[in-house]
Amino acid sequence: MALKFCQGSNCHTYTTKDRLRGSKDNKTFQTRRRSGFYYGKSNFCSLNCQNDWWELHGDNAINHFGRLTEPKHLTEQDAWIKDYDWRSNVDDSHRYYFVNKITKEQRPLTKEQYNDSNYTLNER
Ligand SMILES: [Zn+2]
Repeated sequence: MALKFCQGSNCHTYTTKDRLRGSKDNKTFQTRRRSGFYYGKSNFCSLNCQNDWWELHGDNAINHFGRLTEPKHLTEQDAWIKDYDWRSNVDDSHRYYFVNKITKEQRPLTKEQYNDSNYTLNER
């Protein structure tokens, strides 16, 4: 597995023992290198490193990919959310339901429909 470097702008400045590398007379604190990381789609070794990158490049990234200049809208047609009543001790057919977060309308769901991540009433 190929190793990759943490993309954190200041990763090498955090003086932890595992970052201190090199031969006896030539030690430096180095950017972490691993087969994978837990943060930022496996690009950052820590939330600190992710935040450092964001602090330095976030504005440029947003401007590059398109800054929102007006609000996005979630309309009534796409406001259906699956939910369930955990207190319900009646049969499953009354336990699961869609609820429209705008109109508050509820529609019953089967357990299979509830568990099917492709099943939706939303039109988008
Ligand atoms: Zn890092």
